[in-house]
Formats: sequence, C-alpha cells, structure tokens
Amino acid sequence: MNYIKGYRCTICGKFFETQEALLTCPDCGEKGILDVEYDYEALKKVLTKDYFEKNRNYSMWRYAPIMGIKEDHIDEMLRIGWTPLVKSHNLSKILGIKELYVKDDGLNPSGSSKDRASGVAVLKAIEAGAKVISCSSTGNAASSCACHAAHMGLPAVIFVPKRAPIGKLTQISLYGATLVIVDGDYKAAFKLSKEAIAKHGWYNRNAAINPFMVEGKKTVSLEIAEQLNFKPTDWVVVSVGDGCTIGGVYKGFNELFKLGLIDRVPRILGVQSTGCEPFVVAAKNHEPLKECDENTIADSIAVGIPRNPIKALRAVEYSKGAWISVPDEEIIKAMGLLGKTEGIFGEPAGVTGVAGLAKALKEGIIKKDESVTIIVTGNGLKDPNNAQKAIVKPDLMEPNIEKLDIYLKEKGVI
Ligand SMILES: *Cc1c(COP(=O)(O)O)cnc(C)c1O
Ligand SMILES: [Zn+2]
Repeated sequence: MNYIKGYRCTICGKFFETQEALLTCPDCGEKGILDVEYDYEALKKVLTKDYFEKNRNYSMWRYAPIMGIKEDHIDEMLRIGWTPLVKSHNLSKILGIKELYVKDDGLNPSGSSKDRASGVAVLKAIEAGAKVISCSSTGNAASSCACHAAHMGLPAVIFVPKRAPIGKLTQISLYGATLVIVDGDYKAAFKLSKEAIAKHGWYNRNAAINPFMVEGKKTVSLEIAEQLNFKPTDWVVVSVGDGCTIGGVYKGFNELFKLGLIDRVPRILGVQSTGCEPFVVAAKNHEPLKECDENTIADSIAVGIPRNPIKALRAVEYSKGAWISVPDEEIIKAMGLLGKTEGIFGEPAGVTGVAGLAKALKEGIIKKDESVTIIVTGNGLKDPNNAQKAIVKPDLMEPNIEKLDIYLKEKGVI
C-alpha cells in the first residue's frame, strides 16, 4: 500500500496532493525541490514497535511503507542498509565522551551511504519503465547507481568529474555502466548530465532534484533510532556536500517523532571541509549560499554549488544543531584515528564527522556528557591514495630474524 499523501515544495510551501511521482515544483521550476509527505495517521497504525520487533527483513527495505516505493521488486534487490551501529570504547575515551556510536555506512554493497538512495532510484526507474538510469556525482552516487542498476539489469550512464578517486571510477566500470569522465569539476559534470538526461529522457537519479533520494537516505536515521531502542543520542554528526544526506537524516528522525516512536529529534551537526564550506559560511553570515571552490581531499563533499541547500539548512536549524568545518589535515588525522581506535576504515568524507566532533567538543558546541552518533558515510578502500596520507609507509624487510627483532623493538611490540 502506498501511504504517500503528496509533495510539498521546499520553496513556496505549496502542497500537491497526488500519487503521481512529481520531480520538482511545477510553480517554482528546477529549484523547487519537493519533500514527500505521508499519511502519518495511517502509518501510525502500521509502523508500531511491534511491527519492527516482528520484521525479520534486516535491510532498509524493512521501512518500505514509509519510503514511497512499490514493494514488488524489493526481494530482488541487493541488501542495503541495516549497517552496524558500533558502540565506541576507544575513540570515546580519547575524545573524553561517555556515549559514542559509529554508524558504519561504508559497509553497504557499494561501500557508501549512497546505496540507500540508489536502491530507491533503481526501483523507481523500474516502476517508471525507464530504459536507462543516469546521474552525475562526485563518485559514490555514481558507483552505487551503477551497482544497483547492474543487479537489476538496468543500463546506467554515469557522469563524474575527472578528480574522482580510482576506487570509485573502477567500481563504475566494473559494474558495467557507461562511464563519462567529464574534463572539469563536479559542477561541470552535473551540468552535462542534466542536459543529456533531458535530451534522452533517462531516469534522473540526481540527488537533489529527485525527492525520493531523501526517502532512501533517511533510513539511516530510522536504523539508528531502532538500533538504540528508539532512544537516539543527543547529537548525530554527518558530513555534508550537496546536502541530501543531512536532509534525509533530519527527515528520518522527524518522521519517527511524528509517528510517536521517539520523543525528540537529535541535534544534527553538519560538517564540511574548510576547503569547501558553503553551508558553514552561509549559516555563519545568515546569507544565501554562495558558490565556492571545491578544494578538499574529501572528494565526496567537494561540492561548490550544493544542490539541496534548503533541506540541509533546515536540518540543522530545525534540530537546533550546528555547522562546523575542519581542515583537510584534521580529516586525514581522523582517518588514522578511527582506524586505530575502532577498526573502521573510512574515506576522507566518510570520517569528516569524526574530525567535526573533535572540534565541536573543543569549542563546547557538544558537551562531554552528551551522547553522540557519528555516521561514517563511505568506505576507505574507495580512495587508497588519500588513505596513504594517514599512515607511515613501512619499509621492505629483509627475511632476517635479527633485523625483524630490531624493527619489532622500534615498534614497541617486543
Ligand atoms: C555523498 C556523500 C556525502 C555527503 O552527502 P550529500 O548528500 O552530498 O551532502 C558524505 N560522505 C560520503 C562518503 C558521500 O559519498
Ligand atoms: Zn514551489
């Protein structure tokens, strides 16, 4: 059953009561990004604690009634979501906080939280009878779109900027998608994809435009809440590029609140790199977003023109959260720290939240007695070149036991 009531424009606020899948507001045009709204009263009777206790589908598809999808094909899809929520014992001590969880979304099928949106996109494309699915992305939406399209036998055309890291590029080709590496930045890749999609009538997975991408992304919050027995932490920390992920994080918690399943929405900390921080600047100066350079190693959040500014800014404002930015050196340090303390390997944008939390604690934005969940949004193996910056490269060892002992002594293991 479909519980969608309609779509609300995030600019003009107008509500369109329809079951038809609208992409953007007919009045506001392309900037009129929509929010999907459900019949929450009807859903209250379906999505009960009992429903979740009995539901044995441990993937994001367990939330199908509130994702706006038809359930015909979900059994054929790869398992997306229900990623581990790891209670931290070591990192929490180093940061000096009592209760810290790490949601490891790098363990999704293609290695990032983008799988949550791509899974929905591919289902929607199949529902719409599309022949081809397409998107532009800094790399992860691209590789995840290629991944799930491959699994469902749907051709994909993928646009990426030339800086996309080797792991992500390899994934896209390996999944058999048509890869277009645009000689330019993400802004250029987005523009070309937009033209091609309009010209050829492909299904558009571009995250901001398509309101259903947030419906996938929000499941990360539904999981965090459920994994914590519907008592989410005081704060949830996430890195921000286009702003769809953080928009989804807020929507997920807000809907659980509307359904009476949690009694407050956690405060959301949005984290960017100082090399590309349009949201941080806009929030600080109380001004509209301005285009900026894409100058950070955290390629997944190197987004100079965020495509989902309204949802992202509201996520922080409505949750009484905060914006913060961290330099690339802190991001690199966070990669090593998270690996060493928790055994979790994140890509630069994946661990930006860790660096953001450390800074927020220092600045007193987050207090040490508050509880926190960090979302690690992408797997470190996607970008081994940048990961090398976080380690000391080992020398080659002669096969000689004395030499080995010298090395082991140096390392303090014997
Ligand atoms: C896409 C992405 C983000 C940011 O998500 P947006 O929706 O672009 O804000 C963060 N981390 C990783 C690893 C990503 O792939
Ligand atoms: Zn509108």
